[in-house]
Amino acid sequence: NRQVHLVRRPQGAPVPDDFRIVDHPLPVPGEGELLLRNLYLSLDPYMRGRMNDSRDSYAPPYALDAPPGGGTVARVVRSLADGFAEGDLVVTPDGGWQTFAISDGAGLRRLPHDMAQPSQALGVLGMTGFTAWWGLTAIGRPQAGETLVVSAAGGAVGSVAGQVGRLLGCRVVGIAGGAGKCRQVVEEFGFDDCLDYRAPDLAGRLRTAAPDGVDIYFENVGGAIREAVWPLLNNDARVPVCGLVSGYNGVTEGAGSIHALLMSLIVKRIRLQGFLNADHLDSFPDFERQMRGWLDAGQLRAHETIVDGLDRAPTAFAGLFEGHNTGKLVVRLPD
Ligand code: NDP
Repeated sequence: NRQVHLVRRPQGAPVPDDFRIVDHPLPVPGEGELLLRNLYLSLDPYMRGRMNDSRDSYAPPYALDAPPGGGTVARVVRSLADGFAEGDLVVTPDGGWQTFAISDGAGLRRLPHDMAQPSQALGVLGMTGFTAWWGLTAIGRPQAGETLVVSAAGGAVGSVAGQVGRLLGCRVVGIAGGAGKCRQVVEEFGFDDCLDYRAPDLAGRLRTAAPDGVDIYFENVGGAIREAVWPLLNNDARVPVCGLVSGYNGVTEGAGSIHALLMSLIVKRIRLQGFLNADHLDSFPDFERQMRGWLDAGQLRAHETIVDGLDRAPTAFAGLFEGHNTGKLVVRLPD
């Protein structure tokens, strides 16, 4: 069983020496357990936070000298547990960064045997799609004709949040890194506009792209991008605070502007709300129905960046913080 271990807590951006490839004998399931073969591993920005030795987060730190875990799509290769048969396809919440995993069945979500693209259960039809859908509809509450701005617009969550916004009648402006990615956001994901945050004067270009101001800001990034968007928020704007990826490698913005930010909540009656997808899983069936409908009707594009081979997981993971991915980043393991 090949595993990628976290052997050192990254300082700043993750580097290959923070990880080690380790080979173990195949694990043997006990009574009530399953042996799972991972087919796809989800790589997500939140994992960076769990690589720190910090207790003040919503999830505990990853242990050193062990695989970090994380979501996978897996096949049941041996079942000693009720309710699962060999050959079943499942999504695991934490079986990741290894070829095989043992599970007692807790938290597994079964997938249809004939699912055309099982990796989508980690992306558009899984956690990142759900996060985009829930954050936008429940907190953003889009109304037709409103202007929605989405940061990290080319990523797994952002690309879906913007497309859902368009389907619900918003004018959608994305913000992403690089002219090429911005072009993709407009041409492939159908955003009305996309601005490259690496080019000068983001604030000025945003004013032009959102002439009626911003009614919803779907926040994935924070930092300088938030500072550019904030003055354009309209009265009664909603800000689903999904993530702040610009700070995950330890680079955080100064605290000086927090007072002004809070004051603007009052002046403009802005609704700013953080959320965690895991608290809202009772809405997952509604999400799945609507998202499948859009996908089947060809109304929504699901883009994935697929990297082959577990050994490449560490560099692929580091690439999340360099914008190397478009759409959902997954590692494919041999079946
Ligand atoms: P993405 O697929 O969006 O990948 C991360 C992207 O962020 C990169 O491709 C890059 O795109 C951009 N990025 C990275 N570093 C920076 C930076 N310093 N400044 C600006 N952009 C940067 O990942 P996800 O879709 O999985 O996650 C997006 C956000 O959603 C994250 O903040 C994540 O933590 C959050 N999230 C929150 C959840 C919740 O329940 N609240 C659940 C899942 C995700 P670019 O090329 O544009 O730079």
